[in-house]
Amino acid sequence: MRIFNFFRKSDLECPRCLGKGFVDWEDIIRLNRQLKWVPAPCAYCNATGRVEKEILNKVAVDCMYLTIDLPESVIDKIKDGDQETIEKGKQREIFVDSLIQYAEHHYLSQNMDAESIATLYLNTEAEKANFSVTKEELIKYIQGVINLKKSTLN
Ligand SMILES: [Zn+2]
Repeated sequence: MRIFNFFRKSDLECPRCLGKGFVDWEDIIRLNRQLKWVPAPCAYCNATGRVEKEILNKVAVDCMYLTIDLPESVIDKIKDGDQETIEKGKQREIFVDSLIQYAEHHYLSQNMDAESIATLYLNTEAEKANFSVTKEELIKYIQGVINLKKSTLN
């Protein structure tokens, strides 16, 4: 990988993973993507550690939606600046943000646990959401929100 990149002088060190080809917890905290990403190979540079300059204008380094678990065709669309795909990504982020706020609010104001919050969410809010999640996923996610909140309150 490194040897091939060596010949491409227009390439820059990937600003998302800082050239490692892998997004770790430090990168996630630096880009403020806790609760939204987990450590994984870097989708911004396709795990090569290098990017072409042009991508910086097309897609934000911290674009939440752009992760390695997306199908390759979707990753390509994001990198090409496809408006429909980018809009879908924005909707996804709005959904995640509102879920985080919902969980934080119920944890802080009513001291509810993850399972109770998930149950309430599924009974009252799920229909408004454009994205379906299973209860198990939801509980796990909300537990993560609570844990992060606890750690920042201490
Ligand atoms: Zn990268």
